[in-house]
Amino acid sequence: MEIKLVKDILAANEAIAEQNKALFAEKGVYVVNLMGSPGAGKTTLLERTIEGLKEKRKMAVIEGDIATSRDAERIAAHAIPTVQINTGGECHLDGNMVRGGLEQLNFDGIELLVVENVGNLVCPAEFNIGEDVKVMIASVTEGDDKPLKYPLMFQVSSVLLLNKTDLLPHVDFDLERFRKEALKINPRLEVMPLSCKTGEGLDTWLQWLEERSGSREG
Ligand code: MG
Ligand code: ZN
Repeated sequence: MEIKLVKDILAANEAIAEQNKALFAEKGVYVVNLMGSPGAGKTTLLERTIEGLKEKRKMAVIEGDIATSRDAERIAAHAIPTVQINTGGECHLDGNMVRGGLEQLNFDGIELLVVENVGNLVCPAEFNIGEDVKVMIASVTEGDDKPLKYPLMFQVSSVLLLNKTDLLPHVDFDLERFRKEALKINPRLEVMPLSCKTGEGLDTWLQWLEERSGSREG
């Protein structure tokens, strides 16, 4: 009974995600679903991404949070169209919530939309929102055992950003072990170590995103 219910919920979500995807394609906007645990640096990465790409790509942001609009306020300060979705307790965004957010967003000319998901390594991985790519961000302070503990997140993501590499000398984090275990779960994963604080490694990510988001026509 319970399993059937979960299947129905996921199937209903998939239908809405497909509609979102069609809308994104029609508008020519490349959509990133940014996922990671609380404190991994999602919003800071987004700020660095805006700083690095806003002259090159017309960007917009959807901020998903359980409560508060703090992250949306940080992003809006960069003069980027920003929509806040408060999930009201839900620990992930789903297709329907994103669709609600899209109704408040003027898409015209937008080339790149980044959706910051709720901080959580579990269920955001189960709910498609119609995105082009799932990107996860982890940080060295979370420990190097995350791939084995949260395999689905690593499996569904195309890019794995490993943030806070400036802290590597101060924490017990085996970068090679982390990379190896992540790639064992998902051999196609692109692993990009970086530091939003020092800027080290950010260029690789910015270049990756610039190439993908420019290739669409609206
Ligand atoms: Mg945030
Ligand atoms: Zn959830």
